[in-house]
Parts: sequence; structure tokens; C-alpha cells
Amino acid sequence: MNESPWDVIIVGGGAAGLNAALVLARARRRVVVVDAGEPRNRFAPHMHGYLTRDGLSPLDLLELGRAEVLGYGAEIVEGRAVSASGEAGAFTVTLDGGRMLTGRRLIVATGLRDELPGIPGLAEQWGTGAVACPYCDGWEARDLRIGVIATSAMSIHQASLVRQWSAHVTFVGPPTTELDADTRAGLEARGTRILPNAVTAVLADAEGRLTGVALDDGSTIELDRLFVGPRPVARDELLRQLGAEQMTTPMGEWTASDPFGDTSVAGVWVAGNSANAGALVIVAAAAGATAATAINADLVADDTRRAVAELAADR
Ligand SMILES: Cc1cc2nc3c(=O)[nH]c(=O)nc-3n(C[C@H](O)[C@H](O)[C@H](O)COP(=O)(O)OP(=O)(O)OC[C@H]3O[C@@H](n4cnc5c(N)ncnc54)[C@H](O)[C@@H]3O)c2cc1C
Repeated sequence: MNESPWDVIIVGGGAAGLNAALVLARARRRVVVVDAGEPRNRFAPHMHGYLTRDGLSPLDLLELGRAEVLGYGAEIVEGRAVSASGEAGAFTVTLDGGRMLTGRRLIVATGLRDELPGIPGLAEQWGTGAVACPYCDGWEARDLRIGVIATSAMSIHQASLVRQWSAHVTFVGPPTTELDADTRAGLEARGTRILPNAVTAVLADAEGRLTGVALDDGSTIELDRLFVGPRPVARDELLRQLGAEQMTTPMGEWTASDPFGDTSVAGVWVAGNSANAGALVIVAAAAGATAATAINADLVADDTRRAVAELAADR
């Protein structure tokens, strides 16, 4: 079923997409948000570092956000966008149930997927006993026995960073090729224990609480919190279908965009983790708002061009 065009189609209803929708709906734009309902931080019971919302459940934040967006007349569609095509003024987004949306502009705020290493027991701890971001969960891990599992060269940075929150840090399985003498000396000087072993399992008690890790030499170590760097994978299928240029970042290939989220494809913006893998929730929300202001200005210019052309045609 085809419908009359929206001013803006927003794919992804996390913090980025919803904040973009809020600003655009308040700018009296016809906005639709398509959301598959899987925000990246859905595994975490609490969200931190968001002024006035610190400690709120991530899902509650989005529920509050959806209510605000709906209050200004935007539409929210539950579903997954499977394809996007077209050009500025006439984009078509097709949903998994076959519904087609057409819109003048498009924001992709689909976020990213965290690909965890396949260590048995790790997925069960994700978001509670095992976390990635010290700015999100470091305070709650303060002074605890922290383990950092080496997954990439970035883990060295993570191991040195978490020392800010606890003096009891064990760095497990760092890649010997990347852990040069100076780095090792720096970590050890601050009391970080370095174990070369690989982690074979993440251990939990009967209630499912993290208790430690098992190592490949058969030993176990007791831990209260694990920090792990999953591989971030951009949910960028729609952007690639549209031909958006990619750039190389420390987190991998990512869609190139300007500070407003404008991509190489005219009429297509990105916001949140779709634009910046390192964006915290408040940064993602701000990116959505930023993209929204740029898009509204772009639509105002478009509306003005049309009005001038129509006036000229009438004469
Ligand atoms: C375990 C964990 C804990 C975290 N804790 C914190 C914290 O305490 N504080 C903090 O600031 N940050 C935290 N983060 C980071 C936080 O998750 C991100 O900053 C935030 O989710 C980025 O928002 P976003 O809107 O860009 O993406 P998301 O929140 O991931 O939202 C993207 C939305 O788009 C939808 N979507 C994707 N593809 C499609 C599609 N094709 N069609 C329709 N919908 C689609 C998804 O289902 C999802 O609902 C944490 C991350 C993790 C993994």
C-alpha cells in the first residue's frame, strides 16, 4: 500500500531517532518513525550519564520519548525497514510486512549491533555482569574486582581506563604482539595484573550473578565485573543500498557524514550510533536533534524553491 509522502521518514526509534522526531514534529513536519524495538542498551537495567535521567531504565527512556513524540502528532510504526531507495524528495522505505512509506527526506538512526566474542556464559552476563563502557558502568564497578578480557588492541585502552574506577584490575589474555614493554610497564605500575591466558568460560552463581572466569590452564579467577569490547557492527544496510559513502574509523567501516549527520546521498542523514559508534545515549539524542534542525532548514529551502516556481508558473 502506498501512502502520501511524509516530510521525513526516520528509521530507528532509539534516542537518536526519537529526538530527531521530537524536533521535527515540533517544527510541524509530518514525521514517521519506523522502529524494530531493539535498542542497543536493552540488555542493561539502568542507563547512566544522561543529565536528569541518570539511572533510568533504557526502555523507560524510550517509552517516555515515544509518548512525547506522539503528543506532537508524529507516527510511530513498529516494524523493520528492509529496503530504501529513491532520491531527495521521493524516498521509498519498505517494511518487513510489505508496507511502503514514501518521504521527502530520510534519517537513518538504526544504531549498531555488538558482536560479542563466543565465550560460553558471556552473552548471559551482557549488560549486567559484563559491560563495555566505563563511563556508563564504571561508577557501579568502583573498587570491585574487575576483569578486562582482551578482544582487540582497543582492550589495552579499556584496561588502562578502568583503573580509574578500581585498583583491582586483571587484564586477561592481552595480545602479546600488541602489548609492548612500555604499555605493560604502565599497566603494571598502576597495579593491573596481566594474565596471558585465554578465557574459556564466564562463570556465574545459581542466581546468574557473575563470579569470575575460567582460563585455558584450568584455573579460575574470581571477579565482580567484566569489561569486554565487542566488535561494533553498523546497522547500515539501508545506507549501503542508497549508496552512502563509507569511511574508515577505529571502530571499522562507518557511514561518512558531516557534523549535522548529512551523508553523501542528498536527502539522507544519519544520527546516533549509525553516525558515531562511540556515541553515548545523550550524544545520540543530541545528534538526532542536530540532524532534525538541518533537515528542517533543507525542507524550508525546498518549500521556498517550490513556492517561487509555482508563482512563476502562475504568471
Ligand atoms: C550493555 C550496554 C549498556 C549501555 N549503557 C549505556 C549507558 O549507561 N549510558 C549511555 O549513555 N550509553 C550506554 N550504552 C550505549 C547506548 O546503547 C547507545 O549510546 C544508544 O543506544 C545509541 O542510541 P541510537 O538511537 O543511536 O541507537 P539504538 O538505541 O540502538 O536504537 C536504534 C533503534 O533502531 C532500530 N532499528 C535498527 N534497524 C532497524 C531497521 N532496519 N528498521 C527499523 N528499526 C531499526 C533498533 O531496533 C533500535 O530500536 C550502552 C550500550 C550497551 C551495549
